[in-house]
Amino acid sequence: MGATTKHFIAGEWRTGEGATMTDLNPSTGKSLAEFPVGTANEVDAAVRAARDAFDGGWRDATPTVRRRLLLKLAELVGSNATDIGKVASEDMGMPWAFTMGEAMYCADYVEYYAGWADKLTGEHIPLSASNALDYTIHEPRGVVGAIVPWNAPLSLALSRAAPALAAGNTIVIKPSELAPLPILKLMELVAEAGFPPGVVNCVTGTGPDTGAALVDHPGVDVVVFTGSSATGRRVAEAAARRLVPISLELGGKSANIVFADANLDAAAVQAGVGCFINTGQQCIAGSRLLVEDRVHDEFLEKLSAFATNWAVGDPMQPTTQMGPLISEAALQRVLGFVDGARDGAEVALGGERLGGDLADGYFVAPTIVTRVRNDMQIAREEIFGPVLSVIPFRDEAEAVAIANDTPYGLAGGVWTNDVSRAHRVAKQIQAGTVWVNSWLVLNPQAPFGGYKASGIGRTGGREAFDVYLQTKNIYAQLL
Ligand code: NAD
Repeated sequence: MGATTKHFIAGEWRTGEGATMTDLNPSTGKSLAEFPVGTANEVDAAVRAARDAFDGGWRDATPTVRRRLLLKLAELVGSNATDIGKVASEDMGMPWAFTMGEAMYCADYVEYYAGWADKLTGEHIPLSASNALDYTIHEPRGVVGAIVPWNAPLSLALSRAAPALAAGNTIVIKPSELAPLPILKLMELVAEAGFPPGVVNCVTGTGPDTGAALVDHPGVDVVVFTGSSATGRRVAEAAARRLVPISLELGGKSANIVFADANLDAAAVQAGVGCFINTGQQCIAGSRLLVEDRVHDEFLEKLSAFATNWAVGDPMQPTTQMGPLISEAALQRVLGFVDGARDGAEVALGGERLGGDLADGYFVAPTIVTRVRNDMQIAREEIFGPVLSVIPFRDEAEAVAIANDTPYGLAGGVWTNDVSRAHRVAKQIQAGTVWVNSWLVLNPQAPFGGYKASGIGRTGGREAFDVYLQTKNIYAQLL
């Protein structure tokens, strides 16, 4: 068993006062570390530290100070990408090559938001009165409580922290109990970067204990949550009771539409990657693949060839493309969805747990289910596993109708060589992001977030600041 980790509060590592939990390596089922389940008292200490840091200087720190510290953090995240990637791969099972890439992306992300620190300008408001000056300024809200899931811990923590800090807020982060270690590693870099104590804090623990205590804490001015839509609803209710602003990044059941005129080779590769990457544990997994019936069989052959060669195994090996699911419970849940689909649909590839050297971990094969109807459970619920449901369609109108027939609205994709159709369909898809002849392309400059049950608010781009800033209007009479 590994050592017991600590909370990061007010710039110091603090031993947990309550129970501990075991953090497992999903590739082996073995313990990586014990971590403390943050108590209400510890959450209170972290929120107070964040408040003291906000009132004690961070709110009024010059944009240059905030920019330089964020740039330093970006540099440290980039230069430690190998180590951070290793910690993340062991903790949540994404292949090391990809977690290193994620860390490099995070460095870019933080650098982008560092650049915003001195560009958050207000507006001059032209009034009809000539003897007055009216203008707006944007002010930070205060202490941000950030709840983070396990499926991309580093990027999902930094997509919240970077704009929050650039805007002059302080933050308390609650990582997932399933993979807290990458965010604790990030706290080491926060300390090394030289952020004043209390500007960034981290309390580990469970959702019902630690997460709920953070959301309910009267000292938290903004709640930002990334996780499932079910938990998001509970968090939104709790935040509504205190009337604090929220941003929710939630689940998805995204449709990737392939028209017959598309580049089918490129589409097959991206449809596979878009569903199987991170073992399908992506909010933006293209888990519903809509294929025009004229090319259905031809496309399926290409897709199956790709999926058969998708290398599943030890995430620490450089050739591995897909690691395990996060837990035994997740594995049983995923296989339950596949078994449920056997009645009506056809499991064309995969659908089973992998044994041999991988038997101790939570590995499943890339799975393709065909003859799926959009009203089947497998097409309606977020599976969060490497399971691709293939749904045939006849024409553009039917494709759009199927794509939109879901409670979710996180992402969508259109594959076609007809430029008018590409933009026509992109406009009709009810989702926060639509990719044309691509999938899974994320950039810090671009807004990201959900329609419908996939969320409220945006990360990425200028719009990420909407939840972290409040607007003050100043009217001055010119006497
Ligand atoms: P989850 O909802 O189970 O947990 C997310 C976080 O919420 C964890 O830190 C958990 O401890 C905490 N939590 C649980 N109950 C809580 C409560 N009552 N109060 C406060 N916090 C609580 O989700 P998960 O399994 O960790 O992550 C997977 C989900 O996240 C999927 O649905 C996925 O689509 C979604 N997700 C969305 C995005 C996005 O940007 N839209 C990104 C990544 C993941």
